[in-house]
Amino acid sequence: MAVIVQKYGGSSVADLEKIQNIAKRVIQTRENGNDVVVVLSAMAGETSRLIQMADSASGGAADGREYDVLVSSGEQVSISLLSIVLNGMGHKAMSLLGHQVKILTNKIYGNARILSIDTGLISDELKRGKIVVVAGFQGVDEDGNITTLGRGGSDTSAVAIAASLKADFCEIFTDVNGVYTTDPNLYSKARKLKKVSYDEMLSLAGAGAKVLHPRSVELAKAYGVPVYVRSSFSEDMGTLVTKEDKDMEREVVSGVAYDRDQAKITISHVPDKPGIAAKLFTPLSDHDIIVDMIIQNASSKGYTDLTFTVSQKDIGEAKRLLDAVAGDIGVSRIDYDENISKISVVGVGMQSHSGVASKMFAVFAEEGINILMISTSEIKISCVVAAKYTELAVRVLHDAFGLEQEN
Ligand code: ASP
Ligand code: MG
Repeated sequence: MAVIVQKYGGSSVADLEKIQNIAKRVIQTRENGNDVVVVLSAMAGETSRLIQMADSASGGAADGREYDVLVSSGEQVSISLLSIVLNGMGHKAMSLLGHQVKILTNKIYGNARILSIDTGLISDELKRGKIVVVAGFQGVDEDGNITTLGRGGSDTSAVAIAASLKADFCEIFTDVNGVYTTDPNLYSKARKLKKVSYDEMLSLAGAGAKVLHPRSVELAKAYGVPVYVRSSFSEDMGTLVTKEDKDMEREVVSGVAYDRDQAKITISHVPDKPGIAAKLFTPLSDHDIIVDMIIQNASSKGYTDLTFTVSQKDIGEAKRLLDAVAGDIGVSRIDYDENISKISVVGVGMQSHSGVASKMFAVFAEEGINILMISTSEIKISCVVAAKYTELAVRVLHDAFGLEQEN
């Protein structure tokens, strides 16, 4: 007898037929003798539709509180529909909204963080033999206002509920079979991984592989929640995201990821003195612009060059903010390049194997792919290259590190 949290994404609840299908899986899990808590997203496309409505109604300036009341409503529909279907199939089910459970969050509308979850009501209903169906993506602040957790946030709801219930594991059902060595749409030789570590999963997410909401992985790591990424349309066991272990270390590289969403900014002839980097980057961080890779060249004659990347959606605002301080600092020119791509190799095995970076560079050299920027962490090496090389770079690295076959 285990406690299992199952989260189903928008594509798994897209219509009534799909809801009936997942109901069967939920019932199967229940009939195997488990307590089941289901966490749902809104029906596919619904949240985007609601956001558009909020934007058209307000010219993009909706009040945060009202915006969250609106965009959280998609999940109210999906949880009630599934509960109705489960009841119709002869099982006792109960839907619960974030404020009914009491998923307490801070007050950052549209991007709130979960502070605590009251498990009392869920546990009581499970004890009564019910299947509990909770709305993902939403919570409530201390004053009773509805909040939402940011796009894709229902993964985080599910893992947080699993952590607070001390569930045996959390299953995230989506439209892919699990986590792959690379994007199967880009390279047919991609292989599904049986296991990845929390840190690898976070690095892959940061490198552009968007299977799980990164915050859900951070939470799973912090509370040691085993997470299975599975497809709602198959019986495959998917990929287990879990603590690092010996098997994982044997593999030098676990995956190759790419991120086409980056843009590169180069600031030339920056005076090399204390305080300049702060003057350039503080306005960006004040406007929630995430700067990813940063390179500062060795200075010559008191001047240096700075290159860094931001998300493409932020480039317009970054331009405006940098132009505003450029004159003041005495910068001679700023160049922007949106035709770039970040290619990363990720693996916990890197910590105990040398030569991964040099192999990556050698592979690029052989293909004539010029490297524009490099950054490394303990378990990730990323290179920025021209966007046109994305596919080629991913494929040759996948081959070079032998990812097609399990070691
Ligand atoms: N429905 C929300 C969204 O589309 C939350 C989620 O799907 O995880 O972003
Ligand atoms: Mg989703």
